Amino acid sequence: MKVLKFGGTSVGSAGNMKRVAEIVQRQPARITVLSAMSGTTDALVKIAAAAAAGDTETVERQLAMLTEKYTACIEGLLVSHREEATERMRTAFDTIRREAAAFEEYRSERIVIAQGELLTSAIFTLYLNECGMKAVCLHSPDFMVTDSEEKVDTERIRRALAGVAADPDTYYVAQGFICTNARGEIDNLGRGGSDYSAALMGAAVDAAEVQIWTDIDGMHNNDPRFVEHTHPIRNMSFDEAAELAYFGAKILHPATIQPCKDHGIPVLLKNTMDPEAPGTTISNRDDDSKSFHAVAAKDGITVIRIHSARMLMAYGFLRKVFEIFEQYRTPIDMITTSEVAVSLTVDNDAHIDDIVRELGALGSIEIERNNSIVCVVGRMEHSDAGLAASVFHSIRNIPIKMISYGASHRSMAMLIETEYKQRTLQSLNDSLF
Ligand code: ASP
Ligand code: MG
Repeated sequence: MKVLKFGGTSVGSAGNMKRVAEIVQRQPARITVLSAMSGTTDALVKIAAAAAAGDTETVERQLAMLTEKYTACIEGLLVSHREEATERMRTAFDTIRREAAAFEEYRSERIVIAQGELLTSAIFTLYLNECGMKAVCLHSPDFMVTDSEEKVDTERIRRALAGVAADPDTYYVAQGFICTNARGEIDNLGRGGSDYSAALMGAAVDAAEVQIWTDIDGMHNNDPRFVEHTHPIRNMSFDEAAELAYFGAKILHPATIQPCKDHGIPVLLKNTMDPEAPGTTISNRDDDSKSFHAVAAKDGITVIRIHSARMLMAYGFLRKVFEIFEQYRTPIDMITTSEVAVSLTVDNDAHIDDIVRELGALGSIEIERNNSIVCVVGRMEHSDAGLAASVFHSIRNIPIKMISYGASHRSMAMLIETEYKQRTLQSLNDSLF
């Protein structure tokens, strides 16, 4: 039993959907989890925003674009099921128009956004049927259910998929990303959430493997968009993959790792455009003896520095600081402390003004925006000498604002101004690998 998840580009055209069907048919995959065709969710987000603002022209323009895209896909893919797919498309777009016309904030937006995954999975299932495969499209919101803290009820997935796991003759297809929320409304797991859906389903059925299919050949040792001469990593541990996904490696949604790690289910990152390429295997096994495996960077980081004489020899100071972040549900990424100051970074500055106002009671506050965290991952045993020296030597000309090392054996992170990011990544790539 395997779970295979295909991203938006992998199902982005009739031709690509045919590739996906071949991949699915070649493997004993029983659940295929799909994103919406590429560009769909972006368009649906625009539609929802336009509907909220009463801008019907934009709603219609985006719908016309989607109609063209899905019609081309249906015509390129289906013959005997073409009429059925076209009807399915009309129903989806009628739903969008209806919600746009009587727009209710949040509820309508979620319904609109869900249509991408619903329509893409319906079309793909019809294609498998047309190829003579016995395929059934599951309705993910029936079993992907979140509570008021947005936590997914994993027991419910397990119960719902028990029959699926026991039926090896059927190709099951499900939507990634979408779910039902605590109020019983259709909702989603956040942008890029299909990977997480697949991981949760994989854990629920105790899958032998979860495969995440995208359009690049695995997780690279550095960001190929900014750096020359990167290469895919064959094997990596769950902890490293989690750090890389969190610190900006776009290939995998950061939440994906946990359910698979908990159940010891390997995650394979594969390329739909080159299915024979080995890709990256993420597992508990870690057979690479090199110290440095990869580098990733995350932009849009804001630093908050709190300077306070009250910290001197005091206890309980950090608790007061953390409570303020907790109150505004803002996670802290990096932290460094001295006897009289503490620096913290956040990537979500939605509540920054409130946080800064409350922190003001504890000391003087400075904030700096437009920073990036650069994270080096690998095997960094605390008994090994010279690891930090090699990293810092290679970027000795770059001003570093914060350093985090020693929290795990897996990573070292630096904060720099975003304008130095590309140089930092390239220098690390040239000297560490
Ligand atoms: N279609 C959704 C998005 O674009 C979910 C996903 O692709 O993972 O964010
Ligand atoms: Mg994705």
